Amino acid sequence: MMIRVLDSTLREGEQTPGVYMDSHVKQEIARLLDAVGVDLIEAGHPMVSDDIRIAVRDVARLDLNAAIVAHARSLRGDIEAAVETGVGMIGLFYCVSDDRLDTVFRTSLREAIDQITDSIRYAKRLNPKLMIRYTPEDTVRSPFINVVEAASEAVAAGADVISVADTTGYMMPGVRSMYDYVSRLREALNARNADPVIAVHCHNDRGLALANALDGCRAGATIVDATVLRLGERTGITDLAELLFNLHDGFGENRWNLPALNELYRIVSKYSYFPISKNHPLVGENAFTHNAGVHTHAWIKKNSHYESVDPALVGRRSSVCLDNMSGVASVKFALERMNVPDIDDRMILCLLNEVKAIGRRGRAVDEAELGLLVRSYRQSLTLLRRAE
Ligand SMILES: [Zn+2]
Repeated sequence: MMIRVLDSTLREGEQTPGVYMDSHVKQEIARLLDAVGVDLIEAGHPMVSDDIRIAVRDVARLDLNAAIVAHARSLRGDIEAAVETGVGMIGLFYCVSDDRLDTVFRTSLREAIDQITDSIRYAKRLNPKLMIRYTPEDTVRSPFINVVEAASEAVAAGADVISVADTTGYMMPGVRSMYDYVSRLREALNARNADPVIAVHCHNDRGLALANALDGCRAGATIVDATVLRLGERTGITDLAELLFNLHDGFGENRWNLPALNELYRIVSKYSYFPISKNHPLVGENAFTHNAGVHTHAWIKKNSHYESVDPALVGRRSSVCLDNMSGVASVKFALERMNVPDIDDRMILCLLNEVKAIGRRGRAVDEAELGLLVRSYRQSLTLLRRAE
């Protein structure tokens, strides 16, 4: 069963404190997401503001391969605003936990379900081709029977997708397992003659968003939500690059253009003012950089000694970093890669001493600086010879 990926950088991602993206930026990010090959792009919640509504419409008009999704509460006004943007799919949400129904919505489960099903039928009336996703918000902490009732009636009313939302990042593999939850929900829905597509939306409050998302896939979820740079409320949701790589590596899903992630991350980082951390898997500056002398020595003999991810798969190249951890092999390798002529042992040792001294000051030496060190070494060698 093919696993589809929904990117929500433009919707969930914009809920990151302080992040805002103009329509022209959102359009560019949508184009880059399409180039990566994500299946669904959640573009925003049109009812939130006019500028978001217009941006969702602009993204929907780009004519991308990806289906465009708009977010909406289970209210007719939200649905009308979403349908008017021209999107192919609407994601409706309504929490069905007893606690939330009592204290926030001041309504009963029955009334809530009626509102959900009315919204779904209304959306399908406005556009019969529209795909509908229903999300019982905070699914995994809501009473299971409420979720099953709301989801099965939503499917009967025309919902195509039920999204299991771990809204607070509560799940934990092997303890409160997403695998078990999705399996149990599918069984309960099938018992009521409902067989929707299951999506998973995993927040990262415990640092387990990716693990939980993959756990959901193992149990048969076939849509997974993600954002670039793990943007989103609080600690965000599953990271897109990490998700795509793991689906490629472990689930046989290899239709994505992974090298295109680099430009996507660069642009999202630029306009969200959210840096790409150096040790971010796959796209971070250090993702394929080897440092300690022992590592570098073995890596030069055979890359796989210290790499389980082929950097070429994501359009990257491994490198060796030079600092106080470096050894002769690292310096020699770097000089050779830079095509420095007339390398000898004395030169390597001198440069290694310099590199280690700089490293002890808390800085790494890149190729450009190594070039400067080579020039300085040659200069002092010439002066020495003249003095002799
Ligand atoms: Zn969320």
